[in-house]
Amino acid sequence: MDFEDITQIIITHVHPDHFGLAGKIKELSGAEVTMHKLEEEIIRSRYWDTDSLTQQMGSWLRSNGVPDDELPGLQNVSLELAKLVDPVAPNRLLSSGETIPVEGSSLQVLWCPGHSPGHICLYDQKRKLLFAGDHLLPKTTPNIGMHVQSGPDPLGGYLKALDMLQELDVEMVLPGHEHIFTNFQQRIEELSSHHKERMAHIRGVVGDTPQVAYDIAARIPWVEGKVKWDRIGAFHKRAAVCETLAHLEVLTIEQKIDKIENQYVYYKVRD
Ligand SMILES: [Zn+2]
Ligand SMILES: [Zn+2]
Repeated sequence: MDFEDITQIIITHVHPDHFGLAGKIKELSGAEVTMHKLEEEIIRSRYWDTDSLTQQMGSWLRSNGVPDDELPGLQNVSLELAKLVDPVAPNRLLSSGETIPVEGSSLQVLWCPGHSPGHICLYDQKRKLLFAGDHLLPKTTPNIGMHVQSGPDPLGGYLKALDMLQELDVEMVLPGHEHIFTNFQQRIEELSSHHKERMAHIRGVVGDTPQVAYDIAARIPWVEGKVKWDRIGAFHKRAAVCETLAHLEVLTIEQKIDKIENQYVYYKVRD
Protein backbone atom coordinates (compact mmCIF):
# COMPACT_ATOMS: atom_id res chain seq x y z
CA MET A 1 0.00 0.00 0.00
CA ASP A 2 1.14 3.48 -0.84
CA PHE A 3 0.12 6.89 0.44
CA GLU A 4 -1.72 7.50 -2.86
CA ASP A 5 -4.03 4.57 -2.04
CA ILE A 6 -5.45 6.51 0.92
CA THR A 7 -8.57 8.36 -0.20
CA GLN A 8 -10.03 9.50 3.11
CA ILE A 9 -8.81 10.23 6.60
CA ILE A 10 -11.58 9.91 9.18
CA ILE A 11 -10.68 11.40 12.56
CA THR A 12 -12.41 9.90 15.62
CA HIS A 13 -11.34 12.95 17.69
CA VAL A 14 -8.60 15.60 17.55
CA HIS A 15 -6.40 14.52 20.47
CA PRO A 16 -2.72 14.56 19.48
CA ASP A 17 -2.42 10.77 19.34
CA HIS A 18 -5.37 10.46 16.90
CA PHE A 19 -4.91 13.56 14.79
CA GLY A 20 -1.20 14.33 14.99
CA LEU A 21 -0.22 13.00 11.56
CA ALA A 22 -3.40 13.93 9.69
CA GLY A 23 -1.78 16.97 8.05
CA LYS A 24 1.24 14.97 6.93
CA ILE A 25 -0.87 12.08 5.56
CA LYS A 26 -3.12 14.50 3.72
CA GLU A 27 -0.08 16.15 2.16
CA LEU A 28 1.36 12.80 1.01
CA SER A 29 -1.89 11.25 -0.18
CA GLY A 30 -4.19 14.09 -1.17
CA ALA A 31 -6.92 12.36 0.84
CA GLU A 32 -9.87 14.26 2.28
CA VAL A 33 -10.06 14.78 6.02
CA THR A 34 -13.40 14.13 7.74
CA MET A 35 -14.41 14.70 11.36
CA HIS A 36 -17.33 15.69 13.59
CA LYS A 37 -18.23 19.39 13.52
CA LEU A 38 -17.64 19.74 17.29
CA GLU A 39 -14.04 18.53 16.89
CA GLU A 40 -13.43 21.04 14.11
CA GLU A 41 -14.48 23.80 16.50
CA ILE A 42 -11.65 23.05 18.93
CA ILE A 43 -8.74 22.68 16.49
CA ARG A 44 -7.88 26.37 16.33
CA SER A 45 -7.67 26.95 20.09
CA ARG A 46 -5.80 23.69 20.67
CA TYR A 47 -3.20 23.87 17.93
CA TRP A 48 -3.05 27.21 16.14
CA ASP A 49 -3.82 29.83 18.71
CA THR A 50 -3.28 28.24 22.11
CA ASP A 51 -2.85 31.31 24.40
CA SER A 52 -6.49 31.95 25.20
CA LEU A 53 -7.26 28.26 25.84
CA THR A 54 -4.27 28.02 28.20
CA GLN A 55 -5.53 31.08 30.09
CA GLN A 56 -9.09 29.77 30.26
CA MET A 57 -7.80 26.41 31.47
CA GLY A 58 -5.77 28.22 34.17
CA SER A 59 -8.80 30.11 35.51
CA TRP A 60 -10.92 26.96 35.34
CA LEU A 61 -8.37 24.95 37.33
CA ARG A 62 -7.89 27.78 39.85
CA SER A 63 -11.63 28.12 40.42
CA ASN A 64 -11.77 24.37 41.05
CA GLY A 65 -9.15 24.62 43.76
CA VAL A 66 -5.81 23.76 42.12
CA PRO A 67 -3.19 25.35 44.43
CA ASP A 68 -1.06 28.20 43.04
CA ASP A 69 2.19 26.23 43.19
CA GLU A 70 0.72 23.45 41.03
CA LEU A 71 -1.23 25.66 38.68
CA PRO A 72 1.40 26.41 35.96
CA GLY A 73 2.25 22.70 35.66
CA LEU A 74 -1.35 21.60 35.28
CA GLN A 75 -2.30 24.54 33.09
CA ASN A 76 0.48 24.06 30.53
CA VAL A 77 0.76 20.28 30.53
CA SER A 78 -0.70 19.68 27.07
CA LEU A 79 1.30 22.38 25.26
CA GLU A 80 4.31 20.12 24.65
CA LEU A 81 2.09 17.44 23.10
CA ALA A 82 0.29 20.01 20.96
CA LYS A 83 3.62 20.98 19.39
CA LEU A 84 3.94 17.46 17.94
CA VAL A 85 0.71 17.81 15.97
CA ASP A 86 0.57 18.80 12.31
CA PRO A 87 -3.02 20.07 12.38
CA VAL A 88 -5.18 20.30 9.32
CA ALA A 89 -8.65 21.73 8.65
CA PRO A 90 -11.25 19.15 7.61
CA ASN A 91 -12.75 18.96 4.11
CA ARG A 92 -15.99 17.46 5.35
CA LEU A 93 -17.89 17.75 8.64
CA LEU A 94 -20.08 15.09 10.23
CA SER A 95 -22.82 15.25 12.84
CA SER A 96 -24.17 11.72 13.36
CA GLY A 97 -25.87 8.98 11.38
CA GLU A 98 -24.07 9.58 8.09
CA THR A 99 -22.98 6.57 6.06
CA ILE A 100 -19.49 6.55 4.58
CA PRO A 101 -19.03 4.05 1.74
CA VAL A 102 -15.89 1.88 1.94
CA GLU A 103 -14.79 -0.99 -0.27
CA GLY A 104 -17.32 -3.82 0.05
CA SER A 105 -19.23 -2.21 2.91
CA SER A 106 -20.05 1.08 4.60
CA LEU A 107 -19.36 2.82 7.88
CA GLN A 108 -22.10 4.37 9.93
CA VAL A 109 -21.04 7.48 11.89
CA LEU A 110 -22.04 7.35 15.57
CA TRP A 111 -21.55 10.45 17.67
CA CYS A 112 -20.17 9.24 21.01
CA PRO A 113 -19.24 12.32 23.07
CA GLY A 114 -17.56 12.24 26.49
CA HIS A 115 -13.87 11.60 25.92
CA SER A 116 -13.94 14.52 23.49
CA PRO A 117 -17.04 16.58 22.57
CA GLY A 118 -17.21 15.45 18.94
CA HIS A 119 -15.79 11.94 19.31
CA ILE A 120 -17.19 9.49 16.76
CA CYS A 121 -17.20 5.72 16.44
CA LEU A 122 -17.64 4.00 13.07
CA TYR A 123 -19.86 0.97 12.70
CA ASP A 124 -19.55 -1.53 9.86
CA GLN A 125 -22.85 -3.35 10.19
CA LYS A 126 -22.12 -5.88 7.45
CA ARG A 127 -18.84 -7.02 9.02
CA LYS A 128 -20.05 -6.43 12.60
CA LEU A 129 -17.03 -4.25 13.30
CA LEU A 130 -16.78 -1.15 15.46
CA PHE A 131 -13.95 1.37 15.14
CA ALA A 132 -14.13 2.72 18.66
CA GLY A 133 -11.41 5.41 18.90
CA ASP A 134 -11.00 6.17 22.61
CA HIS A 135 -14.67 5.62 23.49
CA LEU A 136 -14.19 1.92 24.30
CA LEU A 137 -10.80 0.50 25.24
CA PRO A 138 -10.25 -3.11 26.31
CA LYS A 139 -8.31 -2.43 29.54
CA THR A 140 -8.15 1.29 30.30
CA THR A 141 -11.26 3.23 31.22
CA PRO A 142 -11.22 6.20 28.83
CA ASN A 143 -10.70 9.57 30.47
CA ILE A 144 -13.95 11.52 30.64
CA GLY A 145 -13.15 14.99 31.92
CA MET A 146 -15.08 18.19 32.37
CA HIS A 147 -13.19 21.32 31.39
CA VAL A 148 -13.50 24.46 29.28
CA GLN A 149 -13.92 22.53 26.01
CA SER A 150 -15.78 19.45 27.20
CA GLY A 151 -19.35 20.62 26.77
CA PRO A 152 -21.79 20.92 29.68
CA ASP A 153 -22.11 17.28 30.82
CA PRO A 154 -19.42 15.02 29.28
CA LEU A 155 -20.01 12.01 31.53
CA GLY A 156 -23.79 12.13 31.05
CA GLY A 157 -23.17 12.16 27.28
CA TYR A 158 -20.63 9.34 27.52
CA LEU A 159 -22.98 7.06 29.49
CA LYS A 160 -25.82 7.77 27.07
CA ALA A 161 -23.57 6.88 24.13
CA LEU A 162 -22.57 3.61 25.86
CA ASP A 163 -26.28 2.74 26.15
CA MET A 164 -26.80 3.52 22.49
CA LEU A 165 -23.90 1.26 21.44
CA GLN A 166 -25.35 -1.61 23.44
CA GLU A 167 -28.05 -1.96 20.77
CA LEU A 168 -25.47 -2.83 18.08
CA ASP A 169 -24.49 -6.24 16.86
CA VAL A 170 -20.68 -6.12 17.17
CA GLU A 171 -18.33 -9.09 16.93
CA MET A 172 -15.05 -7.21 16.94
CA VAL A 173 -13.96 -3.85 18.31
CA LEU A 174 -10.98 -2.00 16.82
CA PRO A 175 -10.01 0.54 19.49
CA GLY A 176 -7.55 3.42 19.31
CA HIS A 177 -5.23 1.88 21.93
CA GLU A 178 -4.23 -1.48 23.38
CA HIS A 179 -5.66 -4.37 21.35
CA ILE A 180 -8.60 -5.64 19.29
CA PHE A 181 -11.31 -7.23 21.45
CA THR A 182 -14.49 -9.24 21.05
CA ASN A 183 -16.26 -8.97 24.45
CA PHE A 184 -18.12 -5.87 23.32
CA GLN A 185 -21.25 -6.11 25.52
CA GLN A 186 -19.25 -7.16 28.57
CA ARG A 187 -16.85 -4.24 28.15
CA ILE A 188 -19.74 -1.77 27.94
CA GLU A 189 -21.13 -3.16 31.19
CA GLU A 190 -17.71 -2.98 32.88
CA LEU A 191 -17.31 0.66 31.86
CA SER A 192 -20.81 1.60 33.04
CA SER A 193 -20.30 -0.08 36.40
CA HIS A 194 -16.87 1.53 36.78
CA HIS A 195 -18.52 4.95 36.53
CA LYS A 196 -21.30 3.94 38.91
CA GLU A 197 -18.69 2.85 41.47
CA ARG A 198 -16.66 6.02 41.04
CA MET A 199 -19.82 8.09 41.30
CA ALA A 200 -20.57 6.39 44.63
CA HIS A 201 -17.02 7.05 45.87
CA ILE A 202 -17.22 10.70 44.92
CA ARG A 203 -20.68 11.04 46.42
CA GLY A 204 -19.22 9.55 49.62
CA VAL A 205 -16.38 12.09 49.74
CA VAL A 206 -18.67 15.12 49.29
CA GLY A 207 -19.81 16.20 52.77
CA ASP A 208 -21.76 18.92 54.56
CA THR A 209 -18.84 21.32 54.37
CA PRO A 210 -18.37 22.82 50.89
CA GLN A 211 -15.25 21.49 49.14
CA VAL A 212 -13.50 22.29 45.86
CA ALA A 213 -13.07 19.57 43.20
CA TYR A 214 -9.28 19.44 43.70
CA ASP A 215 -9.72 18.44 47.36
CA ILE A 216 -12.42 15.92 46.48
CA ALA A 217 -10.19 14.40 43.75
CA ALA A 218 -7.35 14.05 46.29
CA ARG A 219 -9.55 11.84 48.46
CA ILE A 220 -10.70 9.36 45.82
CA PRO A 221 -8.87 6.03 45.66
CA TRP A 222 -7.34 6.30 42.15
CA VAL A 223 -6.18 3.05 40.54
CA GLU A 224 -7.62 0.98 43.38
CA GLY A 225 -5.74 2.95 45.99
CA LYS A 226 -2.29 2.10 44.59
CA VAL A 227 -1.40 5.62 43.52
CA LYS A 228 -0.74 8.33 46.12
CA TRP A 229 -2.17 11.73 45.17
CA ASP A 230 1.13 13.55 45.84
CA ARG A 231 2.96 11.21 43.47
CA ILE A 232 0.66 11.78 40.49
CA GLY A 233 2.31 13.85 37.73
CA ALA A 234 0.76 16.99 36.24
CA PHE A 235 -0.81 15.30 33.20
CA HIS A 236 -2.63 12.64 35.18
CA LYS A 237 -3.47 14.97 38.04
CA ARG A 238 -5.23 17.36 35.68
CA ALA A 239 -7.08 14.41 34.13
CA ALA A 240 -8.08 13.26 37.64
CA VAL A 241 -9.43 16.70 38.61
CA CYS A 242 -11.37 16.97 35.33
CA GLU A 243 -12.67 13.40 35.69
CA THR A 244 -13.84 14.20 39.25
CA LEU A 245 -15.58 17.31 37.92
CA ALA A 246 -17.39 15.22 35.27
CA HIS A 247 -18.80 12.97 38.01
CA LEU A 248 -19.65 15.94 40.25
CA GLU A 249 -21.59 17.48 37.36
CA VAL A 250 -23.74 14.34 36.94
CA LEU A 251 -24.40 14.29 40.70
CA THR A 252 -25.35 17.98 40.57
CA ILE A 253 -27.71 17.43 37.60
CA GLU A 254 -29.27 14.50 39.47
CA GLN A 255 -29.73 16.90 42.43
CA LYS A 256 -27.78 14.65 44.78
CA ILE A 257 -25.30 17.40 45.62
CA ASP A 258 -25.21 21.19 45.39
CA LYS A 259 -22.75 23.21 43.37
CA ILE A 260 -21.95 26.64 44.81
CA GLU A 261 -20.22 29.05 42.48
CA ASN A 262 -18.33 31.96 44.02
CA GLN A 263 -14.71 32.87 43.46
CA TYR A 264 -14.19 29.11 43.74
CA VAL A 265 -16.63 26.34 42.84
CA TYR A 266 -17.66 24.25 45.83
CA TYR A 267 -19.67 21.07 46.19
CA LYS A 268 -21.64 19.91 49.20
CA VAL A 269 -24.31 17.42 50.10
CA ARG A 270 -27.84 18.62 49.37
CA ASP A 271 -29.64 20.01 52.43
ZN1 LIG B 1 -8.21 10.66 23.14
ZN1 LIG C 1 -5.99 8.13 22.46
